[in-house]
Amino acid sequence: MSIEVSAGAVVFFLEGGKPLYLLLHYPSGHWDFPKGNIELGETPEETALREVKEETGLNVELLPGFKEEIHYVYMRGGVRVKKTVILFVAEAKSKDVKISWEHTGFVWLPFEQAVARITYKNSREVLIKAHKYITARAAGIYGPNRAP
Ligand code: ATP
Repeated sequence: MSIEVSAGAVVFFLEGGKPLYLLLHYPSGHWDFPKGNIELGETPEETALREVKEETGLNVELLPGFKEEIHYVYMRGGVRVKKTVILFVAEAKSKDVKISWEHTGFVWLPFEQAVARITYKNSREVLIKAHKYITARAAGIYGPNRAP
């Protein structure tokens, strides 16, 4: 059994006040968030920012107060890998994605379509939590009781 820890982000872009979510197409066929292995000396937050930049070309900002973990096991060359992925929420100010060789495609989708597209239930649950967090935050910032 080997252990792997990655970090990444639910990346969104606000269009007309509504979030669009960024999903990447992985070579093994699934759709998921940008993420990658935590390197020695990095915090998970630093990894998430680095991986988003490397995999999409986007400079994003992590929103405070959101951190979720998913866990799964997969086989790599006959070895069981126990994996943890730490996920943050990140806002992109541009939709201009340039994917790296590590992925075969990308898509920006509104919430309902992103929920339908994402392959794994554990990531889908994080997307649902992230969407609640983003919409609640936007209501707090732009709601009737706050200055614009
Ligand atoms: P990273 O982006 O962290 O560098 P990777 O591209 O090397 O990761 P994963 O995305 O973790 O690899 O995929 C490795 C295997 O795990 C694939 O077979 C994939 O189908 C499976 N897998 C990926 N995400 C999940 C998940 N959320 N739940 C269950 N299995 C998953």
